[in-house]
Amino acid sequence: MTKPSALHERIAKLRQTFISQLPERLATLEDWLDQLRRNPHDHRPKIELHRLFHTIKGTSSSFQLPEIHATALAGQQLLTPLLDKPEPLESPLLESLQKVLQKLSRVTTALADEIPRKGPTPQDTSFQIDSIGEYVANQERITPKLVYFCDDEQCHVQPLAMQLSCFGYQSELFESPQALYEAVVKKRPDAVILDIIFPEGHVNGIEILTTIQEKLEQRVPAVFLSGHYDFSTRLKAVQAGGAAFFPKPVKVIDLAETLDNLTAEAKPPPFRILVVDDDPEMARYHSLILEDAGMITTTLHDPTRILEVLHDFHADLILMDMYMPLCNGQDLAKVIRQIPDYLSLPIVYLSGETNSGKQFSAMRVGAEDFLTKPIQPEQLVSTVLVRVERMRVLRSLMTRDSLTGLYNHTSIKQFLTGAIASASRHKLPVCFAMLDVDRFKSVNDTYGHPVGDQVLVALSRVLRKRLRNSDLVGRYGGEEFAVVMPEATLAQGVKIINELREDFAKVRFFAGNQEFNVTFSCGVAFYPECPTAENLCEIADKALYKAKHAGRNQVMTISHQEISHDC
Ligand code: GH3
Ligand code: MG
Ligand code: MG
Repeated sequence: MTKPSALHERIAKLRQTFISQLPERLATLEDWLDQLRRNPHDHRPKIELHRLFHTIKGTSSSFQLPEIHATALAGQQLLTPLLDKPEPLESPLLESLQKVLQKLSRVTTALADEIPRKGPTPQDTSFQIDSIGEYVANQERITPKLVYFCDDEQCHVQPLAMQLSCFGYQSELFESPQALYEAVVKKRPDAVILDIIFPEGHVNGIEILTTIQEKLEQRVPAVFLSGHYDFSTRLKAVQAGGAAFFPKPVKVIDLAETLDNLTAEAKPPPFRILVVDDDPEMARYHSLILEDAGMITTTLHDPTRILEVLHDFHADLILMDMYMPLCNGQDLAKVIRQIPDYLSLPIVYLSGETNSGKQFSAMRVGAEDFLTKPIQPEQLVSTVLVRVERMRVLRSLMTRDSLTGLYNHTSIKQFLTGAIASASRHKLPVCFAMLDVDRFKSVNDTYGHPVGDQVLVALSRVLRKRLRNSDLVGRYGGEEFAVVMPEATLAQGVKIINELREDFAKVRFFAGNQEFNVTFSCGVAFYPECPTAENLCEIADKALYKAKHAGRNQVMTISHQEISHDC
């Protein structure tokens, strides 16, 4: 959260910008009034004047400018009864409108004198958010988490540490509790994994953990691995702050899962809100309030760009104004609802419209709520949060595979289509990989279906942990997985998947007394060579088939010549 004073200052700046732009808005109002005077039969000026008064009314009430608000409201009320009437405008009404404009002009001049001359200009770039830049910039690979092992028998932990690296954990090994203590104090790891019993002359693992936790400001997640697992040892381990206890020998998958849970960033990704309002200050004002509550926002003033922005911004909810030039909120909501991908995207209106009949008909398009301006910041935040949280739960149920938690087939195909559309606009590549576990049937047949499930979960963890935040991983079918890598070239895609392939092949699985490894094969294709999602899937599938035929446990591509030859 920004400090209250920072939010306050930013809102004050927006208010000043709004005030400094009022003369311009007045000039537009004058122009339309002139047109009306010249041609009282023309309906368009009435509509435009009504809309402009409505906008000024809404924004001024949010910025607590009561005189502007009252004057704009008077102007709007003069015009409201005429909107559905084709008759020419009578001169007394023209005069009243003229008076409203004069009053607006006087109040504006008085306000302009109040504000310092060097207020922000309309070009102030800090008010512009580049929604595309933010998505594209988020490209770093996930950095490995740091874990410290402490065990006097290094031969036990070395293989574990090596295996854990496949799941995105970088390990450092220490032989004595003292060495662990010194390392933790120097650099706090994401987790510690320690034995309990050490040779004579050393404190034991439980004692050293107690000392470490007392020394640190924030407790470090700790896991014990021990050959001693009687009740009193376990109790002491818990009392010392051990979050998990594994009898040796431990399975790396279980350890990775525990570490994932212990070191997961508690915060889910912030909600993403698209604020649509033709009035830039109004849009920015509402977006500041939402950002202050920890959400990510982008603003849109030109409703005709909505589909493009929705593609790039991945909104969780749209906060939408009602009256805008070219199209109103209700029509815009209809356009959005006609697109299957956005059928469930929550839309909340935020408008100065207080007529309940109009509110109701706007809601019938399938909107979630109708809020009226001016709105209290707390009410705006809580309404948006309630809608968006519920949507995230529903969406996760619809889009995730229940065994692995990865995106399901439908979602990953949708993401692929979206990634291609975005890449074509920005002239960037997209890499698409299709993975299939090798001889998986024999894993099931030999070790049983539940063990097979464990293999799928392990592979999904390796993929999720080791790819970039911007890469999308899905379970394409039974033992088939798909990865969408936006902005990756074919060479980069192949290199990344090859690293993952080598890592996964190192993971050891256990079934009873038996131990085994599993591999996967992969086919990679890329956009723009394959111009559509169908084409990418088809070529990646062919490449996968090629990899299987060439002996499995490898990554293959299909050359341009092979593609042309096939066609
Ligand atoms: P290849 O190397 O040619 O891919 O051989 P394969 O044995 O992996 O391929 P095949 O298509 O013959 O067998 C895939 C097996 O995957 C068959 C199916 O029972 C199993 N499978 C599919 N979904 C699941 C699942 O959710 N859990 C488990 N345990 N097995 C699954
Ligand atoms: Mg508007
Ligand atoms: Mg297979």
